[in-house]
Amino acid sequence: MGDLGQSAAVTALEPRPRRIGVLGGTFDPVHIGHLRGALEVAESLALDEVRLTPSARPPHRDTPQVSALDRLAMVECAVAGVTPLVVDDRELKRDKPSYTIDTLELMRAQFAADDQLFLLLGWDAFCGLPTWHRWEELLQHCHILVLQRPDADSEPPDALRNLLAARSVSDPLALKGPSGQIAFVWQTPLAVSATQIRQLLASGKSVRFLVPDAVLAYIDAHGLYRASN
Ligand code: ATP
Repeated sequence: MGDLGQSAAVTALEPRPRRIGVLGGTFDPVHIGHLRGALEVAESLALDEVRLTPSARPPHRDTPQVSALDRLAMVECAVAGVTPLVVDDRELKRDKPSYTIDTLELMRAQFAADDQLFLLLGWDAFCGLPTWHRWEELLQHCHILVLQRPDADSEPPDALRNLLAARSVSDPLALKGPSGQIAFVWQTPLAVSATQIRQLLASGKSVRFLVPDAVLAYIDAHGLYRASN
C-alpha cells in the first residue's frame, strides 16, 4: 500500500472527537425548559450526548426544596429513553459544594484531549458567571453555549463584556477545538422556571405539560412541593 493509501486507512480508523454537552442545575424540579433546551442544542449541534448534572449543594442559591435523591430521580424519569440526554450524578456523590469548575476538570480528565465539551447555560446563569468559583478558568475546559430565556434581562453584566468580545463567535457550529469559545444558541422560547412550578404546586394547581408526565407522576407519588411540605 502506498503512502496515500496508508494515511487514508489510518484516517478511517481514527475516532472523531466526541461532542459532549453538560447542563448543570438544581432541577428542583426538571421541566420542559431544561429538556427542550438540551434536546434542541443536541440536535442542532450534533452532540453525542448531553449530560444533565444535578447539583448537590449549589453554592450560589437557596437550598433546594426537595432532596438530592428526589431531584435526581426526577431527572432520571425525564430522560429515560430520550437519546442523547443522559444523567450524570457525580456532583451528588461529592461531599463538597457543587463547583462547576471541579466537575469540568473531572470530565476533562475522563475524555480524550480533543473531545469537545460544551457547557450549556441559560442566559440568567451565564449572567451570574462572575460570581462562580474560578469562573475565569471554565473556558480552559469547555466551550460555553448560552441558551436564551425569554423571561431574562437582555444586558450582560459589565464583568462579562470583555470576555464576550474576546471569545464569542456568532455561529455555534463554528466552535472549534475542545474548549475556549462562547456562542449563543436559539431554542424554542419557553418562559417556564422551576420557581413557577414550585409555586403552582404549593398553591394546589396543576403543572401538567410543564414537566414530563413521568416527572408529574413522581411528584404526585411522593407528595413533593405541596403546601404541607
Ligand atoms: P429556579 O426557578 O429554581 O431558579 P430554573 O428553572 O432556573 O430554577 P435551574 O435548575 O436553576 O432551573 O436551571 C439549570 C439551567 O437551565 C440554568 O443554566 C438555567 O438558566 C437553564 N434554564 C432553566 N430554565 C430554562 C428555560 N426555560 N429556558 C432556557 N434555559 C433554562
